[in-house]
Amino acid sequence: MTSSRVHQGLSFDDNPLGFSTRSIHLGNGVDAETGAIRRPITLANAYALPYDPSDINWSSSDLNLYARNGHPNQRYLEAKIANLEGSEDAVALASGVAALAATFTTFLGRGDHAVFSDTTYIAAYRLLHQILPEKYGVDTSIVDTSDPENVARALRPTTRLVHIETPANPTLKVTDIAAVAGIVHDAAKRYGHEILLSVDNTFSTPYNVRPLDLGADIAIESLTKYINGHGDALGGVIATTKERADRIRYTYQVNYGGVISPFNAWLINRGSVTLPLRMRQHNASALSIARHLESLPQVRFVAYPGLESHPGHDVAVRQLARPDAGFGGVLSFGLDTDHDGHNRFVSKLEVITSAVSLGHDESLIVFLGEDDERQYLYPEEFHRGFLRFAVGLEDTEDLIRDIDHALAEAGI
Ligand code: PLP
Repeated sequence: MTSSRVHQGLSFDDNPLGFSTRSIHLGNGVDAETGAIRRPITLANAYALPYDPSDINWSSSDLNLYARNGHPNQRYLEAKIANLEGSEDAVALASGVAALAATFTTFLGRGDHAVFSDTTYIAAYRLLHQILPEKYGVDTSIVDTSDPENVARALRPTTRLVHIETPANPTLKVTDIAAVAGIVHDAAKRYGHEILLSVDNTFSTPYNVRPLDLGADIAIESLTKYINGHGDALGGVIATTKERADRIRYTYQVNYGGVISPFNAWLINRGSVTLPLRMRQHNASALSIARHLESLPQVRFVAYPGLESHPGHDVAVRQLARPDAGFGGVLSFGLDTDHDGHNRFVSKLEVITSAVSLGHDESLIVFLGEDDERQYLYPEEFHRGFLRFAVGLEDTEDLIRDIDHALAEAGI
């Protein structure tokens, strides 16, 4: 790929340029009207029609027609993410949950069966456990996908989709993507129809793990998190083939209306420029903090795939996308205290903010108490309440000092 083609920002070619170069240049380009070397935000709802519009397909998502059908800022972002994930195409939507819902509602219908991981983002759980079975007549099975044989046992002739998340929110459970892909695609051959493996790659990002290289059919990201990185815009994306992306656009973008706003697409495209730099810092800082926490007597357990003590460590190492990749910025841990002790600890933190979300520049921590509706699916150590800690980009020493100080102040 020549540099001028990179600058056009609309090539889906795989190419020898490095991840950082591509994060900067793809999706960027020169504005034809002004010569600006940053793409403008195109906020128009509608675009001028040709003299005779009668041949237009009003559900088209390739034309500049109406912003819900697709718009330039969305397409620049999609071009970059498709390249970083190694897919033919990508569809950016309004949120990570919209990307999950789009995948499930596009590829599953009445009488179909789906298998999904017992640890996923809560909305994936509710969609597959409750909403799709009740409203769309889809059968689903929850399995512990950290053992791929459990997936093999759950597959049926009607299975159309297997959905996994790795590392999973909030327990950091790891699933072997290549092993599950092998099982799913062997079954597809046996049953004589396609079974898709979708992977929620939000915690890893394509910097750390590229699910499609490992055999998955669909990689999903909440763009809200690391890809944007600045905690100020919601978005989601599905990276897959052009044929599947177009089906998703037709179903979920044009006709359900889950389109991303131009402003959010622009912000996320800008934030994603520094993704590799940020991921290296998240990876390094989270590993140091996980090791520190593991050394503290007040800490009951630490779940982080970068630790040798994590049951998924070997798989997590094996599926890293590049030599300097790591295990992401999220870890969960429990203190040797009760419900109130965890809250007291959080209230004494001064640098780390008590708030949901992850992948922001600032560190965020959330106490997930004993009342989570999926508690029964979590390993034993999570049953007494735990903290999900999204390590931010602050100096690692300041975060460690904040934790030690809060433990002392909270009397733990
Ligand atoms: N997937 C994972 C793994 C998440 O952690 C989240 C949100 O926390 C989502 C999907 C949903 O993303 P959004 O909040 O952008 O809808």
